[in-house]
Amino acid sequence: MNEYDTHTIQSELVAGGHQLVESPADANLVILNTCAIRGKPVEKVNSLLGELRKERRSGRDLTIALMGCLAQLEEGQELARRFGVDILIGPGAITDIVPAIRSLDEGAETFSSLDFQPGLDTHLTPAPSSLSGFLTIMRGCNHHCTYCIVPSTRGPEVSRPVEIIMREVEAMRDAGVQEIYLLGQNVNSYGLGDPGLPSFAELLRLVASSGIPRVKFTTSHPMNFSSDIVDAIAETQNICNYIHLPVQSGSNRVLRRMAREYRRDRYLAIVDEIRAKIDDVVISTDIIVGFPGESDDDFEATLSLYDEAQFDHAFTFIYSARPGTPSHRHFEDMPREIKTERLKRLIERQKAWAQTSNQRFLDREVRVLFKDMARDGDYVVGHSDQNHTVLVPKEQVLRLGLYRVRVDHVTPHTLYGHVAGSRPEAIPLMMAS
Ligand code: SF4
Repeated sequence: MNEYDTHTIQSELVAGGHQLVESPADANLVILNTCAIRGKPVEKVNSLLGELRKERRSGRDLTIALMGCLAQLEEGQELARRFGVDILIGPGAITDIVPAIRSLDEGAETFSSLDFQPGLDTHLTPAPSSLSGFLTIMRGCNHHCTYCIVPSTRGPEVSRPVEIIMREVEAMRDAGVQEIYLLGQNVNSYGLGDPGLPSFAELLRLVASSGIPRVKFTTSHPMNFSSDIVDAIAETQNICNYIHLPVQSGSNRVLRRMAREYRRDRYLAIVDEIRAKIDDVVISTDIIVGFPGESDDDFEATLSLYDEAQFDHAFTFIYSARPGTPSHRHFEDMPREIKTERLKRLIERQKAWAQTSNQRFLDREVRVLFKDMARDGDYVVGHSDQNHTVLVPKEQVLRLGLYRVRVDHVTPHTLYGHVAGSRPEAIPLMMAS
């Protein structure tokens, strides 16, 4: 979500007559668009603010803005006071960035905007100049997972009007975007409770009918993951067969303490339905280890769920107590060594299943969108329809875009292959951002 918000902020700045620079060292204004969901990003913001304050003290003329979820929290506001932040804007007021700069230019010492602006949902963000683009379809969350700060920072669910979403989709398609990522804290809730809006499954079909070659979405909540969504993916060629479905734990006892509104059996039934209906589907998940009170048996239940679901990939996290959440207030954290040891075991399990899963694609062709050069410079990196990271030698890809790739070798994290064919409309390499 923050990437989409960052693009909106950049678009507002450009429309307001400001210039974006390549390096923070060249900027008069540095914006930290923050995430507050885990402790680590917050530590990073802390250290970045420290560096910026040091530069300012050594004479650099610099305005500092703190935006995003952290700005919405007392924790972030305390940081803003400590480090002398000039502009403080919450995630519901990102379009206030230009008025904020104007206000400082006119002599205000600081600017703060933490309200949820009603106009944000109908605000049109211009298409990005890249092959892949994010599009927020809804903001906020009505769930109350006990470990999560999002309901406090982003407020209740608000679905954006379908006409606005489709205008952004069409603008992206016309700008040459090949892949749209529909975003929301819980995309499956799109349109719930508003008879004037389509359901998420209907919205998916609508976006796909625009002709965009690839449509992906994240994040889903198992509670709202209904059969019509599975059917929409199974029946629509350009909705990617990749589903990220956070489970968080395999233990019903832990799920209850987390206030996740589904149980293990329901989750596994959804996975079964997905695998039965969608060919070559890839399912990934999020898992938190070491949630307060997680016993050895609870953790074993998570490992056994992993084996039953046979996840193709997982994002695994150690529980990080966030101030302001119910689990921080009411539950006692467990020793770090136990959490670390469990994470290690979970990662081993994850790697083993990822290797098995990736093996399925060996000696087969996958469709890959190349939108970047890989870090080591010898490869072009892309992502398959199933969201695998795919690398091919860079001399085989002279224009970024969609290609057929034959897979020669796999690791738990990556498919390696060679180009087997390309679409004629691939974008010249030098044009891609
Ligand atoms: S559904 Fe996701 S965003 Fe909402 S409270 Fe739970 S973890 Fe947070």
